[in-house]
Amino acid sequence: MGRLSILTGSLTTLQIPTLALRQKSQPVPQDITPDVLRTLLTEMFACMYQVNGRGLAAPQVGVLWRLFILDMQQPLGSPPLVLINPEILDMDDTIEQGREGCLSIPGYLSHKVPRSRKIKLAGYDQHLERVTLEAEGEIARGMQHEYDHLDGILYIDRLSSWDDLESNPDLWLNKANQVMDRLAAEAPKV
Ligand SMILES: [Zn+2]
Repeated sequence: MGRLSILTGSLTTLQIPTLALRQKSQPVPQDITPDVLRTLLTEMFACMYQVNGRGLAAPQVGVLWRLFILDMQQPLGSPPLVLINPEILDMDDTIEQGREGCLSIPGYLSHKVPRSRKIKLAGYDQHLERVTLEAEGEIARGMQHEYDHLDGILYIDRLSSWDDLESNPDLWLNKANQVMDRLAAEAPKV
């Protein structure tokens, strides 16, 4: 297994067009050390929260391993989720269209991304314990979105038409808020 060393705050999200986002990721090695895993997860959460993301897959930060994190805040206050080497056990035949954006495709979103209403996944959590998860609605959507990243698939690939892609005003709002926060922090205190 290759060594992975990461410095705090060093991860940034890759954006299209980047080849890493189009690769099929490899399983996380069985002999991964808890330290390496903890460091990677800490960095991924920091990276995701910094840009107000709700989910992040390892290939989005250039690590071609099959793992993703998700924090949908549903129900409110529920802990974030880590899924390592996930396998899809079952997917509902009912397909629903819904809203998705992606940290790797800034400035865009779609309300017409088709996903299964329910999904059942197995994998490992952050303690490398075997877990089986069942979800529906928004969380099922988030899981399918992140799982797709592990196979190099992006939500835009699932759209039936480019017309279903919209510009995302939140992005500009976030940027404006960041500037306001910085100005407020830098302003002289009276
Ligand atoms: Zn994404």
